[in-house]
Amino acid sequence: MPLIRCHVMKMRSLIDTHAHLSDLEDMEDVVQRAKQAGVDAIVAVGANLRTCETTIRWAEAFTDYVFPALGVHPTEWAEDDIPVTLRYMEAHLDGCVAVGEIGLDYWNREARKSEEIRERQRSLYIQQLEMAAEHGKPVSVHGRGSWRDALNLARQHGPESVVFHWYSGPLDILEELLDAGYLISATPAAEFSRDHRKALEKAPLERILMETDSPVYLRNRDRTSEPADLVITLKALAKLKDASEEEVAKVTTRTAETFFGLYSGQ
Ligand SMILES: [Zn+2]
Repeated sequence: MPLIRCHVMKMRSLIDTHAHLSDLEDMEDVVQRAKQAGVDAIVAVGANLRTCETTIRWAEAFTDYVFPALGVHPTEWAEDDIPVTLRYMEAHLDGCVAVGEIGLDYWNREARKSEEIRERQRSLYIQQLEMAAEHGKPVSVHGRGSWRDALNLARQHGPESVVFHWYSGPLDILEELLDAGYLISATPAAEFSRDHRKALEKAPLERILMETDSPVYLRNRDRTSEPADLVITLKALAKLKDASEEEVAKVTTRTAETFFGLYSGQ
């Protein structure tokens, strides 16, 4: 049975559009706290074979709440696992809402030292962009230290719908990606990261998704995040945009539902 079914009738209030649920523990509690915080859906992303499999398992366990995305992350792959992970993605993608987390990471310690690794990242990224385009799925892109190449390759090989997750790159590249019709996402780092905040100030609210990237370390709170922390993103973005939290929730949720095809088609 496909994981995405067409009975999502009510308007959601908040959607965490990028969380690594496979790296969290006590999922029942995590989901409970997210619901209490007003999070009505979570897009769970994969990063390698193990996390892709777990992502599918959580999506099956929390139907209509956890929506799966599958991908090989630029710094979390093991060469031996790649063929089987890509086959796993092919086999499960039609039941997923996106391909992700995929992309490039030139800040990664190994990638900095090795052009060969950067080239391997690019070829994996291209392969997955093409897979997404073939299956008609949007992609969630990681582009740390590599925003220029991440954008250019998405344009050349990717589907129409691309979100540059946690964008914190140069503003001229941001302008280009917005011109290309792509989105960026806001994370709890909207509270403290200068480059991330500058990008969020510049991008129109209609082109921003909200997420937590759980379980990322929140350095200003000295703990890791979970989907309930989407309210941190919401409050920070509302402040940056000088808008009410209700307005920011409404606009970003509508964008997320359209981007991931979560509508009921009503
Ligand atoms: Zn991530």
